[in-house]
Amino acid sequence: MAWQGIEGHDAIATHFAAAHARGRIGGSYLFVGPSGVGKTAFAMALAKSLVCERPQPGFTACGACASCVQADADSHPDIDVVRKPDDKSTIPLELFIGDDAHRMREGLCWRILLKPAVAPRKVAVILDADFFSEEAANCLLKTLEEPPDGAAIILVGTSLERQLPTIRSRCQVIRFSPLADDAVARILQREASTGGGAVDAAAIERAARAAEGSLTRARLLLDADTNAFRSRLLELLATRPLRGVEVSRETTAFVDAAGKEAPPRRARLRTVMETALEVFREAARQAAGLPATEPSCAQAATAWSGHADAATAAIEHTLDALDAIDRNANLGVLVDAWTAILEEPRLASRR
Ligand SMILES: [Zn+2]
Repeated sequence: MAWQGIEGHDAIATHFAAAHARGRIGGSYLFVGPSGVGKTAFAMALAKSLVCERPQPGFTACGACASCVQADADSHPDIDVVRKPDDKSTIPLELFIGDDAHRMREGLCWRILLKPAVAPRKVAVILDADFFSEEAANCLLKTLEEPPDGAAIILVGTSLERQLPTIRSRCQVIRFSPLADDAVARILQREASTGGGAVDAAAIERAARAAEGSLTRARLLLDADTNAFRSRLLELLATRPLRGVEVSRETTAFVDAAGKEAPPRRARLRTVMETALEVFREAARQAAGLPATEPSCAQAATAWSGHADAATAAIEHTLDALDAIDRNANLGVLVDAWTAILEEPRLASRR
């Protein structure tokens, strides 16, 4: 059974249902786990249950009360959602405490102190919690430590390591695991059949298996352009010595084809780098004499497996580059730097 339609996190739902039944919903939660597994969807569903006038057994929102209707329309006056704007590298301070002209007369820290308009409590959801500036985090500390009566604050990040210790220590940490392959496949099948398109069961199986528990990644892997570029990249990576300029040019063209919006561009670059990572990891496995886990990468991996140090260094550089995508780096510069390092990964020093 999937709690409120969210696959794979029933144990966490049970935890919240039990806390609610005992009247012990906490004030500050920090959700961590890989991207694309449903943390944001879970946070929004939880926010809905928290404002619902008649929560059902299992702490499921009734879906029919005025609060549920407003929550579904993203217009509930007591649910406050803050996230990092696409063009910023951190969540701006003014989203928490208002701009210079409205200090503590606007922003999340001010709004959460107000009396709830209709719901039993105020709920704040802070997405992109990996991107707190020190300044913004400091402003939030007091709110996290002593949330107003009944208020709940849910922070959504990816890993504990990325959280400032001051924030981490003030929240109850809830860990989300990658989705199981069959859960990913089930969601993809549901999406394909509601989308009215033909369901290619084999393609769905393949995408679910390759997505490593990330629904976002699985959706992208089902995309025809992405699949075509993946094959091309495997060819390029199978060539030694690596032609970095070519990898760079073709990767940039693939990213540019996503249009001008930052999120789809970043998503495309992320799949490119994740595909490369699969190759380097497979190469490291081959070099260590371990059995293959990703047959589609085997040929490209063979080109690297005779150079185990290079593969290991390439894994590190690629993880750094993936991190930089999330930190809003200039993608063109990033691609050039990444491919240049791949040409000679052992010679490059880390950052
Ligand atoms: Zn309701």
